[in-house]
Amino acid sequence: MLLEVLKFPDPRLRIKCKPVQEVTPELVQFADDMLETMYASKGIGLAAAQVNRQIRFLVIDTRPRDEEGRYDLTHMTELEKTIEQPIFLFNPEIIKKEGKTTYEEGCLSVPTYFEIVERFNYIEVKGLNKEGKEYQIKTDGLLSICIQHEIDHLDGKLFIDRLSTIKSNRIKSKIKKFGYPEAESETEENIEHKL
Ligand code: ZN
Repeated sequence: MLLEVLKFPDPRLRIKCKPVQEVTPELVQFADDMLETMYASKGIGLAAAQVNRQIRFLVIDTRPRDEEGRYDLTHMTELEKTIEQPIFLFNPEIIKKEGKTTYEEGCLSVPTYFEIVERFNYIEVKGLNKEGKEYQIKTDGLLSICIQHEIDHLDGKLFIDRLSTIKSNRIKSKIKKFGYPEAESETEENIEHKL
């Protein structure tokens, strides 16, 4: 089932999400709906907060794919290649972070806007999988960036909050005043940037 994706400045995107106590069958179904919604929206990551559910949960699939859905993993880092995707992660917690990197990020909740954001380069994250078992992810590259972006959502934070104050305020007031452009021009390029 496709879910509605909330868009900035919806105040529900600002709510801090709560950990799940247990991965119930209902949550497994919700997880599958989120993944379906993410693929349908041509995004590479989606946090529960974005579909109006305030729990600490995210889905991710950063594998580069073409129009027909074929995967080309050649541009992924060695660490990224070792991790099975799509990723379902309940109660994600970053336990180690190193170095800095930048990437042009976009967001399904802030459509048509893309800006350079600074993140940690390498992270180690722990959380629960769909079976409710604890596991860890050690990664860098786009996958690391995407996990950090989605965890921000669970804390009520958006990538446009991480820009300079001037830039951030300019984008926010523009959206509040004019909304989003009618038709989103979908290029091959920006698909990998919708986190
Ligand atoms: Zn996002």
